[in-house]
Amino acid sequence: MSASCLFCKIAQKQIPASIVYEDDQVIAFHDITPQAPVHVLVIPKNHCDNISDIPSDAPDPILAILRAIQIVAKDLGLLKSGFRVVTNTGLDGGQSVNHVHFHILGGRSLQWPPG
Ligand code: AMP
Ligand code: ZN
Repeated sequence: MSASCLFCKIAQKQIPASIVYEDDQVIAFHDITPQAPVHVLVIPKNHCDNISDIPSDAPDPILAILRAIQIVAKDLGLLKSGFRVVTNTGLDGGQSVNHVHFHILGGRSLQWPPG
């Protein structure tokens, strides 16, 4: 837990969020500024700044995140239509919250390449 981190506070239920999935390792909630009809963020409960900061000898959060992505995509009806998972990292990646998070975007046709 990082005391000043917005997503740590959401994980600790100190700040409200529209939670769609939770287990002992991860929590998933609707993005407050959705960029698609479905826009959910999946985060590990333990603080990591970004994907570069996840210890390479700790695969558990990654597996838990993958499981959560599958469950959220199924529960929100994205499996048939498809969806995108994005992890913005650092300055050039456009990361604005420094607690690693995986965007699940779906419900419309998404363009490629991203801007
Ligand atoms: P990124 O820019 O990739 O770091 O993504 C951060 C995301 O967090 C953005 O899509 C924001 O809309 C979202 N966000 C910021 N504050 C909140 C909040 N309180 N609840 C839910 N999503 C948030
Ligand atoms: Zn955090």
